[in-house]
Amino acid sequence: MYAAQLTHTFDAAHRLPNLPGKCVNLHGHTWRVTVSITAPRLNDGVLVEFGSFKHLMRDWIDTHLDHGTMLGAADPLLPALRAEGCRVFVFDTNAGHASSWPTVETVAALIAHHADRWLFDLPTPHPDVHIARVDVAETPTNTATWTSA
Ligand SMILES: [Zn+2]
Repeated sequence: MYAAQLTHTFDAAHRLPNLPGKCVNLHGHTWRVTVSITAPRLNDGVLVEFGSFKHLMRDWIDTHLDHGTMLGAADPLLPALRAEGCRVFVFDTNAGHASSWPTVETVAALIAHHADRWLFDLPTPHPDVHIARVDVAETPTNTATWTSA
């Protein structure tokens, strides 16, 4: 089995009014995303073409999440931020997300969902490659992991 890890960071705010404690406050992190890709064999010596995958990963993250605010669908701040023209990414189980709140776990699941698409969109897709794991760190001490099994 072969594995590769590709990492990107983005800066974004979120808040978790559904939980007790300080995360009820709107606050920001530099989120560190690491996508782990595996395959049982190489394709012409390559597991994944790093440059193309990183371009797809960075493009989606920078367009949808970077310098934005991640909110739950029921968050009362949502209309105010939208009215101001702010970049907002809404977590909503009705949109297929793992939760309607932007926890570090649901951010990992979100990235895993889109990472499947990035593999498919590679110029030379590898038939046996898949996303095995996504790690998302919101602070140096808080990391959540999504795994394929
Ligand atoms: Zn936080």
